[in-house]
Formats: sequence, C-alpha cells, structure tokens
Amino acid sequence: MKVLVINCGSSSLKYQLIDMSNENVLAQGLVERIGIDGILTQKVEGREKYIVETDLKDHKVAIDLVLNTLVDKANGVINSMDEISAVGHRVVHGGEKYSTSVVINEEVMKNLEDLVSLAPLHNPANIIGIKACMALMPNTPMVAVFDTAFHQTMPQKAFMYPIPYEYYEEDHIRRYGFHGTSHKYVAGKVAEVMGKNIKDIKTITCHLGNGVSVTAVDGGTSVDTTMGFTPLDGIIMGSRSGSIDPAIVTYLMKEKGYSIEEMDEILNKKSGVLGISGVGTDFRDIRSAARENNKRALLTMDLYGYQIKKQIGAYAAAMAGLDAIVFTAGIGEHAPEIRERALIDMEFLGIKIDLKKNDNQDIGEGMEISTEDSKVKVFVIPTNEELMIAKETLALTK
Ligand code: ADP
Repeated sequence: MKVLVINCGSSSLKYQLIDMSNENVLAQGLVERIGIDGILTQKVEGREKYIVETDLKDHKVAIDLVLNTLVDKANGVINSMDEISAVGHRVVHGGEKYSTSVVINEEVMKNLEDLVSLAPLHNPANIIGIKACMALMPNTPMVAVFDTAFHQTMPQKAFMYPIPYEYYEEDHIRRYGFHGTSHKYVAGKVAEVMGKNIKDIKTITCHLGNGVSVTAVDGGTSVDTTMGFTPLDGIIMGSRSGSIDPAIVTYLMKEKGYSIEEMDEILNKKSGVLGISGVGTDFRDIRSAARENNKRALLTMDLYGYQIKKQIGAYAAAMAGLDAIVFTAGIGEHAPEIRERALIDMEFLGIKIDLKKNDNQDIGEGMEISTEDSKVKVFVIPTNEELMIAKETLALTK
C-alpha cells in the first residue's frame, strides 16, 4: 500500500509518498508560492531534484500538479493514481472533538470548519488542502491526523488555565498542546530502542524546532505539554516568546500604544531566539555567533537550555518519576550545546549526560547520550511526522 501524506499551509504544501510495505519514501516534495506564482520541488532517492515552475492559482491546481508529478513518465514514481491507496492529511487543530485520527467524511469536514476559530492561522489551509484532494481523488479514502489529538489525554488539572471557568465552557479556552504527532512518534521509538513496553515507562519528549514543545508522556499517553491554547505558549522558540508574564502584554499595549496586531507580531515574529540574540531565528547562526563569544547569542543558549532543564524537573515531578528523555527536531537533533545546558548537573534526578556522545554530530537513526550508569536514559531521535501520519492513515483505511 502506498500512502500520500499532505501537510498543507496557506501558500505552501509538503508531501511524501510512502510505500508502507517497507516504509520507504518514494518521493517527497514541497510546493511553494501557491496563489502567487508557483514552484514545485520533488526529491526522489538517487535522482536529481526535479523542479517545476508554473502558475498555481490555488491549492487544487497545486495538488493536481503534485499528482501529475508523481505519475509523470520521466520524473514520477508510480504508474497511475490508483496506486495511492489512501491520503493522510496533517490537521493542526482537532479541538476537544478529536483525540485520535479519523477517516474524513462530511461530518468530519463540518467539524473541521467549526474548529477554524480555534486555529485561524492553520486549519483553513488544512481544509482547503483536503477539499482539493477530495475533488481530484473522490474515491480514495482520506484521514485527518491532528497535532492536538495526542494531548487529549491530559488531565483537567493540566489543561485548565486559572481564569474564570466560563471561558473554558463558552470559549473553549484551555491547553490543547501541539506537535502531538512528533511526540507520539519519538515516545514510541524510545520504548522500542529501550526494549520496553511503552505502558511501563515515563518519558519526557523535547521537540525543539522552529516551534518548541516539551511533553510528559506517562505510559504512552500525554499527561502535560508546554504549548497551550495556541502554539505561542511554553518554551522559547525561533521567533515566538513562549510563556511570559501575561501582564507584560497589557503593559506594553498601554505604554507603547501597540495595536492587537502589533502585539501579536511582537510575540510571534520578533521574540524568542531572534528577540534575545538579535542574530536571527536560525539556530545555526546562533551557534556560530556563540562560538565567536557573542554575548547575546550565549545568553540565548543559556536561557534556552535553562528553560528546558526547568521543564524536565517539572515533568519528572508531575509524573513522579522518569525513565527517559528524548530530544528531537532541528535544534533537538543538531544543537549539542542546548542538550548539554539542559542536562548538566541533573545527577540528583538520575540524569547523567555523556558529553562526548552528546557532541557526536552523526545521529543516524538515533543515538543515546546518557552515561552507562545514568538511571534516566537520554536519546536523540530524528522525528518523522510524515511516517506517523502514514501509519495512522494505513491503520484506519486498510
Ligand atoms: P520546524 O519543523 O519546527 O519548522 P525544524 O525541526 O526543521 O523546524 O527545526 C528548525 C530549527 O532547527 C532551526 O532553528 C534550524 O536553525 C535548526 N537547525 C537545523 N539544523 C541545525 C544544525 N545543524 N545546527 C543547529 N541548528 C539546526
């Protein structure tokens, strides 16, 4: 069975066609500038990158191009669209409605529309992508895989914000959590690598990419996570602030006369790693600046590592124990400086990092970075959200 995974953004979409018999990625691609002009880049193992520049007026035209590229005689990887047995769509917000992935039908589409107010930046693009796909492949089953679903197991004490209760009841304001597909994937991988049943272990998963979230996974279920009502909550991110004193928002708006839009822009686009370092959002640039002793780049690393360390302490307490920690996503996989800062001096919790192993840049399928005698095992494991989406899609459609 071959499963097509689609991750649709407002002007771009990523896709992968995966052969589920061996989990091989047959083709992966990125379509950008949808609605502006349009460019598709497809990668197939062992071949040159294939690039198509053409007008893509909307997502339907873009998905049509993806399907045509996949079946293209010279550059494609399959003979006909019939070889695609199912399509898995990444959907950011499933609200309280969806705690697992679902096969998409009319009722699901209606529910997705109802959820738009909770994720106005993401869900509309996801819906457009699903509709475009359905129009082009009306007989192929499709599955929605939600970023929030994995976290629906959080207990109420973890997901409630201490503001008047009616905002939860009437406006659905609560912690939802995001990156669920990634947390679920790496938590599963860790259990596999440790040769344990996931039900028997307590794990903290640290997804450190442009967006950042840390999750407490107890017995395979999410019991708490740092992202909240929106992906702005929690740990410092590329350009997002993460948690701050909420009164700073009203103070700045009053003192500086900022509008809602300006305040939104400051917290989402100008804060975090960019705001603190003044260098940029790309962590590779922060690493090189820190090597040259740039004080604010070093401060950014210290603050970043410190926040992760505090979160590990908090979640170890929340779960009353800890067996494993996993680092994943761009920074989690490639910035040993952050892992070192997060894990150093944690022997009192049973966490001992092997600094030499931690410095190894070639993480391959994953590596262990704790010492032999560390009670808590620490791993760096590359995330694979697309494979997770494909697996869930296969499970629901086969
Ligand atoms: P997302 O999927 O959240 O957009 P990624 O998981 O791709 O993000 O992570 C992006 C981040 O990872 C960027 O800050 C990028 O600079 C960082 N990153 C990628 N490669 C490296 C590297 N070799 N060293 C340090 N940071 C890296």
